[in-house]
Amino acid sequence: MTMAVCFKCGVIKFGAFVPCPECSGAPQTEDDLALSLAMTDHYFDMPTLRQMGAAVRDGKPPHLDPQTHAQLIETIRSSGMLAKLAGLPPPPDGKAPQGEQRPPPKKPWWRFW
Ligand SMILES: [Zn+2]
Repeated sequence: MTMAVCFKCGVIKFGAFVPCPECSGAPQTEDDLALSLAMTDHYFDMPTLRQMGAAVRDGKPPHLDPQTHAQLIETIRSSGMLAKLAGLPPPPDGKAPQGEQRPPPKKPWWRFW
């Protein structure tokens, strides 16, 4: 499991996108996700994560530089994480959904006009 820092209260938790055991905070927006993704042991070592957690507790969450932020948003979008968090079932073939494109709802055949 991934060691992560809660973006709301700064506690160390397991998994970047799981609701926090302390404050129940869960990332809802792309910005939240980007910050949550950044504050994991994928990107930083534990001492740094603890420092970040302390900063979040002080109300001063770490500021991502614009390039890192953009890259993280890109990662999040391409993985379809936001859709998963919104409670949509993952696509059966395991591929990330492409943007907002969904098949249009089927209309009854007699309503083609
Ligand atoms: Zn928390």
